[in-house]
Amino acid sequence: MTFSELGLSNEVLQAIHDLGYENPTPIQEKSIPALLETDRDYVGLAQTGTGKTAAFGIPLLETIEPFAKTPQAIILSPTRELALQITNELKNFAKYKEGINIVTVYGGADIRKQINQLKSGAEIVVGTPGRTVDLIKRRALNLSEVNTVVLDEADEMLNMGFKDDMDTILEQTPEDKRVWLFSATMPKEVERIAKNYMTDPFKVVVGKQNSSNENIEHQYAFVKAKDFYFALKRFIDYYPDMFGMVFCKTRRDTKEVADRLMQDGYDADALHGDLSQAQRDHVMKKFRNKHLQILVATDVAARGIDVDDITHVFNYHLPEDIESYTHRSGRTARAGKKGIAISLVHPRDAYKIKQVERQINKKMKLVKVPTGEVIVEKQIYHFIDSVHNTEVDETLIDDYLPKVFKELEEFSKDEIIKKMVMAEVSKYLKAYEHARDLNAKPGKRDMEESSVKGDRRGRDANKKRIFINVGRNDGIREKGGILRFVCDASGIAGKNIGRIDLLDNMSFVDVDAEYGDRVVALNGEDFEGKTLRVEYSKGKDSSDRGGRRQTRNHRSGNRRRTRSNNSKENYNERSFF
Ligand code: AMP
Repeated sequence: MTFSELGLSNEVLQAIHDLGYENPTPIQEKSIPALLETDRDYVGLAQTGTGKTAAFGIPLLETIEPFAKTPQAIILSPTRELALQITNELKNFAKYKEGINIVTVYGGADIRKQINQLKSGAEIVVGTPGRTVDLIKRRALNLSEVNTVVLDEADEMLNMGFKDDMDTILEQTPEDKRVWLFSATMPKEVERIAKNYMTDPFKVVVGKQNSSNENIEHQYAFVKAKDFYFALKRFIDYYPDMFGMVFCKTRRDTKEVADRLMQDGYDADALHGDLSQAQRDHVMKKFRNKHLQILVATDVAARGIDVDDITHVFNYHLPEDIESYTHRSGRTARAGKKGIAISLVHPRDAYKIKQVERQINKKMKLVKVPTGEVIVEKQIYHFIDSVHNTEVDETLIDDYLPKVFKELEEFSKDEIIKKMVMAEVSKYLKAYEHARDLNAKPGKRDMEESSVKGDRRGRDANKKRIFINVGRNDGIREKGGILRFVCDASGIAGKNIGRIDLLDNMSFVDVDAEYGDRVVALNGEDFEGKTLRVEYSKGKDSSDRGGRRQTRNHRSGNRRRTRSNNSKENYNERSFF
């Protein structure tokens, strides 16, 4: 099928032509004509990289009334990066259309500027849920004329704790609007949105539901915890042309892995929630321009990243939330290319492989951590290959060659080849001279999928209540802010968190019992210049643990603070709730 068969205007066809798109992708083929023809709600189950932005963006642009100056469409996306990408893509398609103004709104940027942009008139608004709600509350964004709401990466938005914000936004829009929802997976929470806000939607599934991209090869290797970093390095060295991402659970691991890679001479950097927006932009720019070979990131920080040509995704740790596996691995194999996702798995976590396989609907392949010899061999052939493929432009090097020939005239051809190869790969030869075998073996019991382990995740597990010494006065405006911070910093998924109480100077977060220690491990870390105090809240668990005993455990500064607090914000939550 060609784009001209989809019933598009000449302006859009010309813009598509300029972009160099030859044919519609499967989701575009199925969605564009349908969205142009009917006013029905729509569910698109598709990963990023399938062309889904154009699948909703093109019909949206074709049905927008130009010069209306009030928002007719609101597109919600989980991250600033994705929101900007959507805007960028829409602007490309709208290049030859007049009177369609697209405004992007997202947190972490000057809100007044965004208010002014909205004031000058916008037909389409692309926003992250938190900032969108903020603008609605300030009456800077009026959604009463909206006829289309697009929820992009709905599962991600829910994962990131935007449920309440999404509800608030959807409730602000007229009853008879169209809702177009895109999601890579269809968990219960996404179904709830579909049920509550959509009527008889038509559904387009690209690839298998909840499956991952067919172009991704999923591999895993068993490695002991102490060898994770070395195993990662071996895989990186084994793939000389690798351009990849490494996912870690926590910011601390992310920083540590990136630092070690940098110290070891790799072009690597870290992306995590501790960075300012400017720092994040800087890192992303370097990565996009391929000045970095490896980007080490947390799940939250990496959401929405759309960089083409990523060849490998490494799971330094498997994600706690198995659904995140799909999002991580989906960073590779974009736009029809192939990619490899490699997970380093502790033998103790062997049972998780089956969970991932169920999620992606595909078998993962057990691979060995490459040995030193294999790496050296690969590097040598890679070098030889590049020598082979190098075109000699004599006009450029002729002037230098006489001196080079003179310098090397005492050596035979064989000697020169040996020296060249040696010079090129000596770093690997030395590094891997006495390389150990890093492959670990899981025991039989590790391999069995433990129903106890499997079922304990998520849903019904007992929650532990955790105290955190930051609250509204520390700049956290909504519960979602605490949720995102805890998820990003500890690496656990939003669904493992229950009730959140956000107070002025502190917060309480209910966390699935098994992840409690991970959150408590944030104790002592820095939060916007403040040292975090994160502890199990004892009040709820047992009535004989009164405030006195808790205060005794705290450092003296905190104790003073606790005592001087009035009852309203007393750390002993029993006295408060
Ligand atoms: P998306 O799934 O929207 O994130 O799109 C993935 C990438 O595919 C983006 O970089 C688009 O620019 C590109 N793309 C979208 N549609 C097409 C098409 N029909 N042909 C070629 N590339 C496309």
